[in-house]
Amino acid sequence: MLKLFNSLTRTIEEFKPIKPDQVGLYTCGPTVYNYAHIGNLRTMIMSDLLRRVFEYNAYEVKQIMNITDVGHLTSDADTGEDKMEKNAKTKQDVLAIAEKYTKSFLNDLKALNIESPTIMPKASEHVAEQIEMIESLINKGFAYQSDEAVYFDVSKFPEYNKLIGQNLDEMKLGARQEVVQDPKKKNPIDFVLWFKTVGRYENHILRWDSPWGTGFPGWHIECSAMSNKYLGMTFDIHTAGIDLKFPHNTNEIAQSESANGKPFANFWLHGEHLLIQDGRMGKSEGNFITLQTLIDKGFNPLAFRYLVLTSHYRSKLNFTWESLQAAQNALNNLNQEVSSFDEPRVGCAQFEQDFLQAVNNDLDTPKAIAIMWDLIKTDEFPASAKAQTLFKFDQVLGLKLEETWKKSKAIPKEVQKLVDEREEARKTKDFAKSDELRKEIETAGYLLDDTLDGYKIKKKF
Ligand SMILES: [Zn+2]
Repeated sequence: MLKLFNSLTRTIEEFKPIKPDQVGLYTCGPTVYNYAHIGNLRTMIMSDLLRRVFEYNAYEVKQIMNITDVGHLTSDADTGEDKMEKNAKTKQDVLAIAEKYTKSFLNDLKALNIESPTIMPKASEHVAEQIEMIESLINKGFAYQSDEAVYFDVSKFPEYNKLIGQNLDEMKLGARQEVVQDPKKKNPIDFVLWFKTVGRYENHILRWDSPWGTGFPGWHIECSAMSNKYLGMTFDIHTAGIDLKFPHNTNEIAQSESANGKPFANFWLHGEHLLIQDGRMGKSEGNFITLQTLIDKGFNPLAFRYLVLTSHYRSKLNFTWESLQAAQNALNNLNQEVSSFDEPRVGCAQFEQDFLQAVNNDLDTPKAIAIMWDLIKTDEFPASAKAQTLFKFDQVLGLKLEETWKKSKAIPKEVQKLVDEREEARKTKDFAKSDELRKEIETAGYLLDDTLDGYKIKKKF
């Protein structure tokens, strides 16, 4: 039984899909105006972990992750510049920026061994679907237009705060006095569905024709329109970073449930923050860390994945260089152990059962990692059985252990030549030369053990 903490109900619930054996999963994707930072990537690892756990439980997963390339403003309060257009002068610029950072994001996913989402729709290519949903909201009386924009009328959706579970008054939502308000906006909490290219957005580069004149969609409507198109009105599960819970995810629910008259996502999973040396990550604080920063410092991207797995997704994770180094060391040790494994055979049933129970208990990866190390250290099973079970675990953990094992078995020609020369030296009892050759082999990244059955060679991590 797979149990997950549903942020919508704030309880641990048994996961039950709408269609047997299938899962529809929607993940809020990146706004491609800059590199993803490692906090964003932690959320992506959580979504990947969830997907892998579904697959481990034999579900077929359809995962949609949007690419935001229009409408995400620099402030959540529907104000400021469009993030995509901050450094752009022409449509060509916007497209080039989007392409550059989408590519970088996809490279990050690959480096972290995150499975590719089934479909990654772009907001700018789904404007017709967004317009259609806004029209439906207007027709049903959930939206209204002013000279500047089309707004969602929050007063028409009494369950607006159900995801945040807080009274709206407690949230200090009216504290935006410094912003010049549209006089026709009924309520400060109403949010934009469609911006008209007038006034402050007169020069907006990306623009489309609509029943309300030329303009561009607000940020939140894209996720409602695209999940609707690819997963249907009601789907199984939605994931995002916790900072998106309000207003973004809250607004997604309001739009979709009002337009469709049906529940939106049955389950919500929110990943907690990654803190950088105890603080919030931000460019101004000078601690905006990307995956490339880690790679440039000599870390394996999978060491970051390992670090993320050592904490539960609902706990804050404090990133420090020391903690990353510890994760890198653990991963090196793991790879070292793996490279000495024999051909996988049979498996260790009790360990497999414990592991399944851990990941099915709201994705308890710290426990799963502990079980993995217990397996590696146990003397109860031969290495072939451990290998079989460990590679199974790695379908969830995604640390590329089988790949490491296979690579470690392939000894490069030049290293094999040194090994053969050393065997020759040992036969003629030239121990000085034999020792020297062993050092050379080690320098080339391999460890040689002499056993009663002859030598054993393995890759050094
Ligand atoms: Zn979203």
